[in-house]
Amino acid sequence: MPKCRKCDKKAIYIKKYAGTALCKEHFIIDFEKRVFRSIRKNKMIKRGEKIAVAVSGGKDSLSLLFFLNKYKERFGINICAVAVDEGIAGYRDKTLEKVKKFCKNFGIEYRIVSFKDKYGFSIDEVDKKHSCDYCGVFRRRALNEAALEIGANKIATAHNLDDEVQVILLNFIRADVNRFIRLKRKKKIIIDRIKPFYEIPEKEVALYAFLNNIDVSFDECPYVHGSFRYEIRKFINHLEEKSPGIKFSILRSYEKIVDLIGEKVEKEIKRCKKCGMPSSRDICKACELLSKINKINK
Ligand code: SF4
Ligand code: ZN
Repeated sequence: MPKCRKCDKKAIYIKKYAGTALCKEHFIIDFEKRVFRSIRKNKMIKRGEKIAVAVSGGKDSLSLLFFLNKYKERFGINICAVAVDEGIAGYRDKTLEKVKKFCKNFGIEYRIVSFKDKYGFSIDEVDKKHSCDYCGVFRRRALNEAALEIGANKIATAHNLDDEVQVILLNFIRADVNRFIRLKRKKKIIIDRIKPFYEIPEKEVALYAFLNNIDVSFDECPYVHGSFRYEIRKFINHLEEKSPGIKFSILRSYEKIVDLIGEKVEKEIKRCKKCGMPSSRDICKACELLSKINKINK
């Protein structure tokens, strides 16, 4: 390993896309500086806010909770961790243990909401081919509801650069222009969402967790391999390997496109006729899926 660009110590990380190397101390400083910059640039946090931090027990979300907890006084905010139990046996139970342990260690308030209690089904009970569809739709809803219940002003999620780029490409490939635009141009619908790590590569979030001795779960959801997103992830990582910096350049191109055409494409948000939640269609996706489950169970 070469020397750190900032001091004489041995580097522990090479930032290929920037052509620099950093020691442990300077990696952490650089990481946090970039997160602060993303937060400031996008005006994500205001003093006096209560932020619900969505956590799963993995490296990304516990790193985000660690970061926001470390700087909560500087930001002037209150935080509360919110976790969703989708009902995935042998996986979610383990990751939730990590959440509880972390919150107890740091004295952070937390709340866990379960699909089974709230909606009457668990992910293990739905058709395996559509696990991720159900999971995504109801996780979003459960988080919104939990955040409102605890009186939070915002939900912070740990989406990193890799997640962001995967979703951009996914929506692009599916020709879902509305969703494509909405990823950035989020109107406040129920509760604002912020993504402080959206400009940090996944690898660096993992290293941040490791260097801060955060005890995270490395378990992978048993359903992840079936998803199309998994293929996209492999594809992007392959491109990044060949040409470092490609993830950033996809994000920048995307931001430019949205700035240019966002307003023209954005549709008015309607309300679901069944539950009253915001939706781009007459009946929202959650209500559509719930009625499917109810038909099957009848
Ligand atoms: Fe849910 Fe799919 Fe993620 Fe598993 S891989 S947690 S089923 S979205
Ligand atoms: Zn609905």
